[in-house]
Amino acid sequence: MLRHAEIIAIGSELLTPNRLDTNSLFLTERLNSIGIEVELKTIVGDSEERLEQVVREAVKRSSLVIATGGLGPTEDDVTKKVFARVLKRQLVLDDLILDRIKARFRRRGMEMPANNARQALVPVGGQILENPAGTAPGIWMATEGCDVILLPGPPSEMKSMFEDSCMPRLSEMAGGVRLFKQVFKATGITESSLDERIAPIYAKYKNPVTTILTSPGEIQIHLIGRGRSEDEARKIVTELADKIELELGDLIFSRGEENLEQIVGYYLMMREMTLAVAESCTGGLVSQRITSVPGSSSYFLSGVTCYSNRSKIDLAGIPPLVIQMGGAVSAEVAKGLAEGIRTKTGATIGLGITGIAGPAGGTVEKPVGLVHIALSMESSMDHQEFRFVGDRERIRQWASQAALDMVRRKLI
Ligand code: ATP
Repeated sequence: MLRHAEIIAIGSELLTPNRLDTNSLFLTERLNSIGIEVELKTIVGDSEERLEQVVREAVKRSSLVIATGGLGPTEDDVTKKVFARVLKRQLVLDDLILDRIKARFRRRGMEMPANNARQALVPVGGQILENPAGTAPGIWMATEGCDVILLPGPPSEMKSMFEDSCMPRLSEMAGGVRLFKQVFKATGITESSLDERIAPIYAKYKNPVTTILTSPGEIQIHLIGRGRSEDEARKIVTELADKIELELGDLIFSRGEENLEQIVGYYLMMREMTLAVAESCTGGLVSQRITSVPGSSSYFLSGVTCYSNRSKIDLAGIPPLVIQMGGAVSAEVAKGLAEGIRTKTGATIGLGITGIAGPAGGTVEKPVGLVHIALSMESSMDHQEFRFVGDRERIRQWASQAALDMVRRKLI
């Protein structure tokens, strides 16, 4: 049964900062969905010699090799030539393909340039993969111990060809395995504490496979289950997912792809509440995240960046004495920002954020990473003090995440 694959992305531009090899990411995602794992990928420039070295090794060590790119009409498109040589297949002209390429040019009122005839060369025994979106057909070569698939480089051509001509056959070769994936997103806990809590649960399961990914203020738990049908795979995942969910409770803010700003948006909409934000160290990041959600105008009233002391007084109405007494980074200032912006805008919830993002400006008492966040409602005032670690960007990201999470927790 087919379990593993290797990908070769061909094209010198893929070795420069100008073009990313996105084809292999697409292929990996599709292969994973049918239970095939990509073990190795290589990017090779348009060098016949280097490509030949890579291909010789690849067909020896892998049972599925998928190459993209280099099927074009020019001299430096060497993919077919190299694979044919390594697999000891002659290249022959396929008249049917040649006629199709000629017809394609005729439809655009052009004569086919002589170079394009190269695209009609097919290694003996190779099966043609149709390319409705372009001229270069793909090729599938089944050899002993290794299936080789050659796909064109342009992503749209590669994707439709792979989806239509390769996925059904590969899925069968992989034994009809189906995968089901469940993602949980959590916040308000460190990765090690979270893992301590759920490792005893997921460690008992080989299927699904559990992966934990982190970014500032957010931990993602990916559960991927295999089954003979999608239903079976879903059941396998659900059993573990339910246990993890029970353990983590409201630390989990999303059971899918939604980010925290979307979740906060749902709650605000559901409760018919509005939000206004006065932020200092996050410089508008919280407002930016909230307004990145379509439809946020129905619940987000205003966001001001009060960076200087003057603006904290003018825009959020903080009494100058509060700043003079405790400095710009204090619980009182965060509360003042939250209360001030709420009353000025008439929002149901006012959020105030002040802190030291660094790298300069920290003291022993108020180190870099200290952030105060306050949430004001007509009948309540919540405040939290955080000590984040990391560089300026990380601290700002953490702070925006913590601020959004305070709103979420207030609304659940
Ligand atoms: P063509 O018939 O267009 O010559 P080809 O198979 O020779 O097709 P290339 O010339 O290698 O393909 O690439 C065509 C386009 O597709 C280029 O813009 C290239 O940057 C892009 N491309 C090639 N390989 C990849 C890849 N792995 N990921 C993303 N883009 C790619």
